[in-house]
Amino acid sequence: MNRRNFIKNSSLIALSSSSFTLRELHNITSGFGKSPLMPGIFIGHGTPMNALNDNKFTQSLKKLGKDLPRPNAIAVVSAHWLTDKTFVSVNPAPKTIYDFGGFPEALYKVKYEPKGHPEFAKEVKNLASKIPVHEDNGMGLDHGAWTVLRHIYPKADIPVFQISIDYGKPPQFHYELGQLLKKLREKGVLIIGSGNIVHNLGTIKPQGEAYDWAIEFDEIVKDHLDKGDFMSLVNYQKFGKAAQMSIPTHDHYTPMLYTLGLSNKNEQIKYFHEGLELGSISMRSFMIS
Ligand code: ZN
Repeated sequence: MNRRNFIKNSSLIALSSSSFTLRELHNITSGFGKSPLMPGIFIGHGTPMNALNDNKFTQSLKKLGKDLPRPNAIAVVSAHWLTDKTFVSVNPAPKTIYDFGGFPEALYKVKYEPKGHPEFAKEVKNLASKIPVHEDNGMGLDHGAWTVLRHIYPKADIPVFQISIDYGKPPQFHYELGQLLKKLREKGVLIIGSGNIVHNLGTIKPQGEAYDWAIEFDEIVKDHLDKGDFMSLVNYQKFGKAAQMSIPTHDHYTPMLYTLGLSNKNEQIKYFHEGLELGSISMRSFMIS
C-alpha cells in the first residue's frame, strides 16, 4: 500500500469515543505498579528483510532485549504509520501487517502478534493533553514495529501499541508530542521511534561505499546527538544539501524526533548500532537513558 492510500485508509477508520474519565484512566495505569524508568529508543530499521536476517544489526537488537529492564508495554512510533491527525492504536489484538511488496515468500509467513494495550494507549490521549489524539481500533503492527521487535522480544509476550505520525505537521510538533509522552517511561512503557536517520530509496545501490552526503549527514546527526543539541536536529533543513539528500521525505527521520522529546536533562545517548547500508540508509540506532 502506498503512503497516500495508507493515509486515506487510516483516516477512514472509525473513531470510538473513550468511556473512561481521565481519573479512571489514571487509576487503571497506576495499578501497574512501580517500574524502573524505561529508556527512550530510536531504531534505524532498514529493509524489512531484517526480520529474517542474522547480522550485526539484528544481533544488536537481541542484545538490547536482554539488557533492557522488562517493560509493561511497548509504544512504537513508526515511519510506516502516517496519517492526517495523530492516532493511537487501542486494538487489543493487533495483527502483523505486510506493508511492502516484492519480498521473498518467507517474509510474509512471519507472524509477530503480541497483545495490544488499550489502557496505556488511552493514556497517550491523556498525556498529549493539548494535542488531540484519536483512537484507532483496527491498526495492526506495521513492519517498522514487528521486524525489529521480533528480535528484541522474540516471545511476543509484551503488549505493543502504535502511535501514528501526523504527516502534515512540522518537526517541532513531533518533538513536542514526544516530550508530552515522557511520563510513560515512568510507567514502564518502552517507547521506540522506528525509522532511519538517512533514508533515500531513490539512490540505494546493492554494493559499494555510502554516498558522501549520507556519511556527512549521519555524522552531523551523531555530533548533535552527542552535544545534546536536539533543536538543531528538529531544524534539520538548515543543514542544507546533505540533509535534503538524506531526507527526501521526512517519514523515516521523524520517528527520531519523538525519541529526542523523551529525554530528560543529563541523560546520555548510547549507540547500540551504527553504519550505512545500500549507499543511502543509515542504520544508526540509540538509546537515551
Ligand atoms: Zn522503513
